[in-house]
Parts: sequence; structure tokens; C-alpha cells
Amino acid sequence: MGALEGKVGIIYGIANHRSIAWAIAQAADAAGAQLVLTCIERMERDVRRLAAQLSRPPLVVLCDVQDDAQIAAVYEDVRKHHERLDFVVHAIAFANREDLAGRFIDTPREGFRQSLEVSAYSLTAVTRAALPLMTAGGSVVTLTYLGSERAMPHYNVMGVAKAALEASVRYLAADLGPSRIRVNAVSAGPVQTLSARGIAGFSGMLDAMNERAALKRNIEASEVAQAAVFLLSDGASGITGQTLYVDAGFNIMGIEQSVAG
Ligand code: NAD
Repeated sequence: MGALEGKVGIIYGIANHRSIAWAIAQAADAAGAQLVLTCIERMERDVRRLAAQLSRPPLVVLCDVQDDAQIAAVYEDVRKHHERLDFVVHAIAFANREDLAGRFIDTPREGFRQSLEVSAYSLTAVTRAALPLMTAGGSVVTLTYLGSERAMPHYNVMGVAKAALEASVRYLAADLGPSRIRVNAVSAGPVQTLSARGIAGFSGMLDAMNERAALKRNIEASEVAQAAVFLLSDGASGITGQTLYVDAGFNIMGIEQSVAG
């Protein structure tokens, strides 16, 4: 029996076949989950094409998380097809390309506002709206990056958004624990996706992983997906409010062996 057999879950954030959300959808499908996929209008054709590859046909719903009415409409649609939701996957982020190129200090007010709203506040918005359907407890997983804790070149406002996202995970976990709903984040190492292409010098981040991560390599989206499926499953029933690193051990490294001699 798969780890998510009998569970119904909703996944936010598929843009194309490279998306981490798509890797999670494939892994959750293989683990037995019945899925609902959401995407923005521009990605609908690609997402419907991908959805057809899953073993249980998912409902596909449009949702821009900047619009509360669209978020509410998603769950009205879900309710027509499913009595209950067991999990939510949030794999959404946005920052203006120019704000991920120069210095953080130059971030304009509007770029800061939009990045924090789409990348951090949306977790709270989509989770709150899901609650009436999460009647048997459940699990919420979001995606973050180490740039929340350390100043990474060009990650800038997205690092600040990820810090807010990780703090939101802890506050949501505290709020929802009594309802047996767990909330966790997976902190992924760099993966070549549409969003990643918007970060200046992204290939340098991949090179640094090969040189400095404990495992001396980059990670695959499928490895992030397996960790997400674990957190969504009952196997993680005692885990909430945590950030789980899937980064080949990059975050634990101090001075490299070669420097110490
Ligand atoms: P991606 O571009 O495939 O996914 C980002 C998604 O956010 C897209 O589907 C996009 O449509 C969606 N999105 C943006 N604005 C939206 C809005 N207003 N409403 C609804 N959806 C919106 O890239 P990805 O790398 O798979 O990103 C998924 C998550 O993983 C993000 O939170 C990202 O920060 C995180 N992450 C990525 C990496 C990496 O290296 N790729 C590393 C760590 C964490």
C-alpha cells in the first residue's frame, strides 16, 4: 500500500514538467493519492497535459493566489468532487526579475510587497481556505530555500520572503496542531526550474553545491518530492513546524576539509 493511499490532496505551483510541484504530484500519485492541481491561467494548457499523465485523473482548477475570490472558488470546486482534503502542497514563489539581480538594498516597495504576498502570505491564505475541508486532520507542506537564513548572492527579497514563509510554518503549526493538521517546509537545494532561471547567477549556485555540499553533488526534484511525500504521510505524524533540508547536506558545512588541510 502506498504512503498516501486513500488521501486527497491539492497541489499549488505546477508551471511545467520542470516544476518541483510536478515532481511532488508524480510522487504523490505513485504513493496512491487522489490529487487536485491548481495553476495560473497562463500555464493551464501545459498543466492539463501533465495532469493526463497521472494514474488517477485530477481536477485542474485555475488560481492566482493574489485573488482571494479565486482561492475561495478553488475549494468550492473541490467540494463538488471530494468530501474531504487531507493535504495541501504550496510550491509558489514570485519576485520581479530585476529584484533578483542587483543589491537587496535597492528593492522597491512594490516589488517587496508583491514578493512577500505571493511567496509567503499565500501559504496562510490557501491553508485557511482549505480548513473547512480538512475535517480529519491533515498535512501542509511548503517549499523554501536556505537564502532565508543566509545572505545568498542575488536571492535578495526572496530570502526575506522565505524567512517570512518559514516563520508562517511555525505559527500555522501552532494554530492548527489542535485540529491535528501538521505544517512543515522542505528546504530544497537549487533545482533548474522556470523560477530558478529568474535568479541572476543561478548556475553558480549549482556549482557551489558540487564543490561544497556534504554529498558533493546537486539534488534532483524527485528527491525533494520524496521528502514532501513523507511529510504528507502518516509516517510523519509526530512532525510539525519543521524545516527539512533536502540539499545534499549543503547547510551543515563549515570550513571545507581542503582548507583545513
Ligand atoms: P516553478 O517556476 O516551476 O514554480 C513556481 C510556481 O509559482 C509556478 O507554477 C508559478 O505559476 C507559481 N506562481 C507564481 N505566482 C503565482 C500566483 N500569483 N498565483 C499562483 N501561482 C503563482 O519553480 P520551482 O522552482 O518549482 O518553485 C516551486 C517552489 O520551490 C517555490 O516556492 C520556490 O521558491 C521553491 N524552491 C525552489 C528551488 C529551486 O532551486 N528551484 C529551491 C528551493 C525552493
